[in-house]
Amino acid sequence: MSKSNSELNSILHSGYQHPTSRAWQSQGRNLTKSMFMYPLFITDDDDAEVELASMPGQKRWGVNKLEAFLAPLVQKGLESVILFGVPLKDPKDERGTLADDPQGPVIKAIRLLRRAFPSLYVATDVCLCEYTSHGHCGILFEDGTINNEPSIARLAQVAVSYAKAGAHCVAPSDMMDGRVKAIKQALLKEGLAGRTTLMAYSAKFASSLYGPFRDAVDSAPSFGNRKCYQLPPAARGLARRAVLRDVDEGADIIMVKPTLPYLDIVTEARDLAPNHPLACYQVSGEFAMIHAGAKAGVYDLRTMAEETAISMVRAGATLILSYFTPEFLDWLD
Ligand SMILES: [Zn+2]
Repeated sequence: MSKSNSELNSILHSGYQHPTSRAWQSQGRNLTKSMFMYPLFITDDDDAEVELASMPGQKRWGVNKLEAFLAPLVQKGLESVILFGVPLKDPKDERGTLADDPQGPVIKAIRLLRRAFPSLYVATDVCLCEYTSHGHCGILFEDGTINNEPSIARLAQVAVSYAKAGAHCVAPSDMMDGRVKAIKQALLKEGLAGRTTLMAYSAKFASSLYGPFRDAVDSAPSFGNRKCYQLPPAARGLARRAVLRDVDEGADIIMVKPTLPYLDIVTEARDLAPNHPLACYQVSGEFAMIHAGAKAGVYDLRTMAEETAISMVRAGATLILSYFTPEFLDWLD
């Protein structure tokens, strides 16, 4: 039995069920520690601590290393993280079975973080590309095109598994049609809707800034590209429609990704969804670009990182997913 969107829109608790998500509902314009969500790559070698060559200072972590790494950051005021799974050992299949493997890195990390850091808000990216043999974000027809219905059913299943494991927030980044509604309905059915934030990657563009991330999570598609589901860079109209659709389907937080070349879209999203927290993802390529410029002597790293973060807040963002989060915890002291 499918529920109507108006019933899904009636769920408000999911956006303020935690002290951190409550703070995101206030719409200040200064940089604060609470605004920064730190993306973490979790791999299936429990003892891993692997430097990522294209992302200075960032690592792929095994669950056994997380507590020691995060404890000082939580001490400095880290309030939220978002987890990306990086399975490297087990064979991947066409429907991304590894995504919600109970012994997989994401579910193990959710459990560990909830236990080790009771105040930390734990979000999980929800997508299939890190887990599928073909590296696409959904399930495919034989001709290699996206088969949308089983894709959103599978994404909903994965989101429910993360929520059951204790995630405060599930964040679909796949860009399949109707996945926000499918996930909300599945959470509702499982009695999890009120305690699980749904942060939608709503306006996610097909950008050249994702390269370092794909290396980090080993998720480059084995054929083709993602241009049939991620938005074309010039598509302001599609971005607007995607934001409005995700609001209508019950998203608690709207996201724009990447950030710097899309600040106008951040402002559009602010205007289209004035009653929602607005997230933006300063993606791996933006992070690498800021580092590369600083290394080349074009600008000072901290000054530039702060300038970009401020530009996001000025454009309307209230939440910033950034690899600079550990630095900002120091800089904002
Ligand atoms: Zn994906």
